[in-house]
Amino acid sequence: MMKISEKELTRRGFITRVGQGLVATGVTAPLLKNAHAQLRVPDPPGKKLGWAIVGLGSLAINQILPAFAKCEKSKVVAFVSGHPDKANKLALRYNVNPKNIYNYQNYDSIKDNPEVDVIYIVLPNGMHAEYTIRGLQAGKHVLCEKPMASTSAECRQMIDAAKKADRKLMIAYRCHYEPYNKEAIRIARAHELGPTQMILADAGFAAGDPAQWRLHKALSGGGSMMDIGIYALNAARYLTGEEPTEVNAMSFTDRNDPRFKEVESNVIFQLRFPSGVIANCSSSYSYFHQSHYRVMGTEARLEMDPATWYNGNRMWIERGNKIEQIELQEADHFALEMDHMSDCVMQNKEPLTPGEEGLRDLTIIEAVYEAAKSGKTVKL
Ligand code: NAD
Repeated sequence: MMKISEKELTRRGFITRVGQGLVATGVTAPLLKNAHAQLRVPDPPGKKLGWAIVGLGSLAINQILPAFAKCEKSKVVAFVSGHPDKANKLALRYNVNPKNIYNYQNYDSIKDNPEVDVIYIVLPNGMHAEYTIRGLQAGKHVLCEKPMASTSAECRQMIDAAKKADRKLMIAYRCHYEPYNKEAIRIARAHELGPTQMILADAGFAAGDPAQWRLHKALSGGGSMMDIGIYALNAARYLTGEEPTEVNAMSFTDRNDPRFKEVESNVIFQLRFPSGVIANCSSSYSYFHQSHYRVMGTEARLEMDPATWYNGNRMWIERGNKIEQIELQEADHFALEMDHMSDCVMQNKEPLTPGEEGLRDLTIIEAVYEAAKSGKTVKL
């Protein structure tokens, strides 16, 4: 019973074959005419909210700033950076007015800048709480990168600050907004694989330079679990749509490795969900990169590998003796999440991934650490 996924696959397969067969069949002209008739002419630009990017590091420069070109509702208008040369160069590139470049000291004066509607915090994890709260107190809406903060206590302070300021707070869980993970969520929750029995999810990569902030607890809040294991955890939660009630964990860290003086490397953790689904997840800063999950239903199995990359994600469903690859149109995760935030501000709607979503992950991450340390199941 392939139902919707089979229908979608057939349609997508047809489109792919038509594209490949144009020249060979000699029917180029009529098909092109037909394609032209189906051309979607984009709408004129609507209102775009002004965004300030706080922290001009790797993610901001390589993913977030280029993504604004694909946004319908968001434009970059300001930077907050400790490096004026870098900020000025990027201002020229992205047409940001130099008067809208702030540093970490005068950041609070952004409250007087009506061009800025939303602030995007792209700093090391240990700085998320302070800069989110200061942004909210400046009267701006805030999108904060994952993990929301270093502790669940900080997450609560951020949520309280958003309520007090009556501003939106969203956490940048980009996978909730992109087509492949959205389709996996739909398929799993609609029980198209039969009711889910088990989820396997793995997320990791080999951490490099021992000097980087990710390997220093004050700035990272923790090791692989905070940075990358959170993808496996979040996937287990979004694929079930449930909150775990019990957590087991084991961890191993080679303390002779210069990268792991302060934070953990390898973690295996298990989650029990109220419906009976159990999840087995791993997180690592030592193994070859991994971004993978499997949803095992009673009738079929869905697999994503890679599951959470910026692009190139792949999905299969195995049912009976058939493996079907699901191909979807890729989209820019960052443009989608930023436009979602802008839309929520414009329409006064609650974001799909509000502060409470970040708090739930941090609460479970703390339980993972506790279970690994005590060797006992932690009940939530
Ligand atoms: P990065 O090290 O490349 O950038 C961090 C930025 O913070 C730099 O511009 C740096 O100058 C600035 N900074 C300010 N004070 C600092 C301090 N005391 N120490 C170190 N840097 C300081 O990091 P990144 O990879 O861009 O990650 C930034 C955030 O984005 C993190 O929270 C990370 O978890 C998150 N992230 C999310 C994704 C995703 O897919 N959603 C991917 C990568 C990173």
